[in-house]
Amino acid sequence: MKNAQGRKSVANGFDFSHGLEGLDADEAAVVRRRQKVLGTMGPLFYNRPLHVISGSGVHLRGADGADYLDCYNNVACVGHSNPHVRQAVADQLGRQNTHSRYLQDEVLDYAERLLATFPGAIDHVAFTNSGSESNDLALRMARVATGHMGVVVTQGAYHGITSLVSSVSPSFGTGLPLAPFLATVRVDDALHDADGLGDGTGDGADGAAASDAVWAVLGPRFNQAFDALEHGGYGVSCVLIDEVMSSDGILPGARGWIARLADAVHARGGLLISDEVQAGFGRMGGVMWGFQRHGAEADIVTMGKPMGNGIPVGGVAYRHPIGDAFAACTRYFNTFGGNPVSMRAAGAVLDEIERLGLVAHARDMGDRLARDLSEILEGHERFGGLRHAGLFLGIDVTDGADDGGAAQPDGAAARAIVNALRDDEHVLISSAGPGDAVLKVRPPLVFDDSDADRLLEAVRHICERGLFDR
Ligand code: PMP
Repeated sequence: MKNAQGRKSVANGFDFSHGLEGLDADEAAVVRRRQKVLGTMGPLFYNRPLHVISGSGVHLRGADGADYLDCYNNVACVGHSNPHVRQAVADQLGRQNTHSRYLQDEVLDYAERLLATFPGAIDHVAFTNSGSESNDLALRMARVATGHMGVVVTQGAYHGITSLVSSVSPSFGTGLPLAPFLATVRVDDALHDADGLGDGTGDGADGAAASDAVWAVLGPRFNQAFDALEHGGYGVSCVLIDEVMSSDGILPGARGWIARLADAVHARGGLLISDEVQAGFGRMGGVMWGFQRHGAEADIVTMGKPMGNGIPVGGVAYRHPIGDAFAACTRYFNTFGGNPVSMRAAGAVLDEIERLGLVAHARDMGDRLARDLSEILEGHERFGGLRHAGLFLGIDVTDGADDGGAAQPDGAAARAIVNALRDDEHVLISSAGPGDAVLKVRPPLVFDDSDADRLLEAVRHICERGLFDR
């Protein structure tokens, strides 16, 4: 949805212009109070914004006293109010939390552990406070290392909020101009059906064929984007790619095609920056990093969101010659980046991922949800298909056209489902993609079988009420 200025509103956003009708007294009071100091720049979710009081595991307690099942939160990957993370943060706050120009064990302990999760060539890391900062630094590093300026992203990409990064994030719409050195590539049509139901990954015997088919469509498009940047005098500095393509409509795609993309950008002298803010830390199931699903040779990997389970921390892992080139002409210092408290939080997250086997769990639980949700939704007119990798699922909602034409994405129907789940089932999901018509289901990694049962029951109720039918 776009307003007159070309600004794209956030999917599942509360509409401030509609006023406070329909909200209960508490919700209305807090929205009013928030608007008075925070204005309307920052979106709120749902027709009735949720007033959260506390959280535990995959549950959020609302001010209305209800227990909400959180099927959306990738930040609290090891669970809301995780005791191990809390303990690590409290302990470090009682020791010291100063800046990174001193020698500190905490940042080194974490850096060594984090780098051990990457293939050997990615051997250095820098720390930031957010995904946006990570992508911003990565773009600057790619510029310096390649001597080129041009950036390629997907057509619906979101990579963050800094001046540079927002200028290569077309999902903001056209309210502010995008960078002149940006080329975009449409991917949703090529990846939409490339991901099978059930395994959701294009794995196994079909994997190579599916990946070839994707590249047959996308290879020429990416090469055309590279040509355009070269002809424009910018050259190709990098492809910046969200490994799950969340804002493009949740398109994990067939395994392998991003390896071809890496080869293609390398052939132009550019780098592959793997944006793992969404996909990283086991979310894709069975692998720690999204680029590993593809066996791709990433040059720079950017991280954020789940890294500190809510404590602000991000990172940029890279092949060391890229950082050496950067250090030769400028420097990187970030007051809070790599601070000991954030490092301890991030270390505690890795502890929990290992202790609870969450990388394998994301694969198994994601496969279960994909299978069971498909079974419930199959045959309903508005169900347009399901894609997933690990615990990141996208469900297409369509107009269910029966007039012989192809069913079209139906954002209004998706919105009705998201809000019915929130209001009546106390289950939190959201939407994404073209027309905001893809239901986005992305629970904390600690989501268990009883949580899955509750989600499935809620979706059954929604179906019984006819929200998935015309
Ligand atoms: N990259 C991707 C793929 C993202 O989804 C986001 C946040 N939604 C970012 C970068 C920016 O991260 P942050 O909000 O932490 O700055």
